[in-house]
Amino acid sequence: MKTARLSVNAGEVRRQFPFFQPHPEMRSVIYLDNAATTQKPYTVIEAVSNFWAHHNATVHRGGHGVGAKASELYEAARTRVAQFLNAREPNEIVFTRGTTEAINLVATAWGEAFVQAGDEIIVTELEHHANLLPWMRLAEKQQATLKVWRITDDGRLNLDDLRELLTERTRLVAVSHISNVLGGVNPVAEICHLAHAAGALCLVDAAQSIAHMRVDVQRIECDFLMFSGHKAYGPTGIGALYAKREHLEAMPPYHVGGGMVQTVRWERVRWAEPPMKFEAGTPPIGEAIGLHAALDFIDSIGREAIESYEHELTQYALRRLQETPGVRLYGPVPDRTGIFAFTLEDIHPHDIATVLDTRDIAVRAGLHCAHPLSERLGGPTVRASLALYNDTDHIDALIEALHHTRQVFGYAG
Ligand code: PMP
Repeated sequence: MKTARLSVNAGEVRRQFPFFQPHPEMRSVIYLDNAATTQKPYTVIEAVSNFWAHHNATVHRGGHGVGAKASELYEAARTRVAQFLNAREPNEIVFTRGTTEAINLVATAWGEAFVQAGDEIIVTELEHHANLLPWMRLAEKQQATLKVWRITDDGRLNLDDLRELLTERTRLVAVSHISNVLGGVNPVAEICHLAHAAGALCLVDAAQSIAHMRVDVQRIECDFLMFSGHKAYGPTGIGALYAKREHLEAMPPYHVGGGMVQTVRWERVRWAEPPMKFEAGTPPIGEAIGLHAALDFIDSIGREAIESYEHELTQYALRRLQETPGVRLYGPVPDRTGIFAFTLEDIHPHDIATVLDTRDIAVRAGLHCAHPLSERLGGPTVRASLALYNDTDHIDALIEALHHTRQVFGYAG
């Protein structure tokens, strides 16, 4: 496969990122840790620095022009997120620090109001701790039951298993769109459909899908969906929660403080309308503006083009990993994305990552903030994860370095 024939030219994409430019004091890195965080294009860095240099003021407060401009930019970012997700209106978007905070918001504000003793919440065995611990804690607090939707031996979710778990006591099904360990794409629209048919709500953790495929909340028909800016070429400290308006209206606030009230009297407080009701305190304004630029960057390449390019690259990586002696690859083979959890012979994954690092290849090793899933897989793994600036040369370098690692640890041939 030659990347030049494909819809995305990864070399041209890399030119838009300072991280990939030669630097006199820095070695150039083959970055394969994109599921943890992505690198940032110039446009995102410039959008953030331009805000801080020229438009810095807090939003929705100051009686001056600078504040009005800051508010305008911040609200434009919200409108951009709504459009990116195909939400019905910008008021369905709450800015958060990221996916983790968004799930905690739902688990606390919605969960403590609507989940009662004896109710059930379903989570999958695939979940990142961010979509597991808030539900474990809520279940304990409300004396509700947490049910685990187990994966099949080949790392998939079987919808028939969900049908068996759903009951009239189920209040919510919480599922990741793409597993951060196995890379499989979960059938979230079907999952939400089944949840709704049983009278439950459906929450989709889109942290790993947002930068790699089209995410359309109206098509999925989810009640809640969230993502982090930093995994989508944007800044850290910013993410978004999408929630259907009716839920945002019914839910009490999460954090309370400045900016989320209409009036405060000793005897009575009136909350602001959503989404302000959920954005107490000074928000991450520059970061929201950086997120706007990141979504523009993604759309400047094109989400269908990204998806088809990454699909080709994934198939190439899959083939090369499968033919590498000693590699054991986890997760489903069809319908997967460019996240590869694997082991090599019986070399400890941390040792593998260390050897790869000596060749300037950045991967992650360990339990990937998904301890129950890693336990099911048999322990720690190495994880290589792709983004649209990676190409087949990067995969070849990884495979070459894995051969080298085998030799370093005394595996012949
Ligand atoms: N969910 C998934 C599937 C993830 O991969 C991650 C990050 N690794 C998170 C949630 C948490 O995201 P953040 O740390 O940006 O809040």
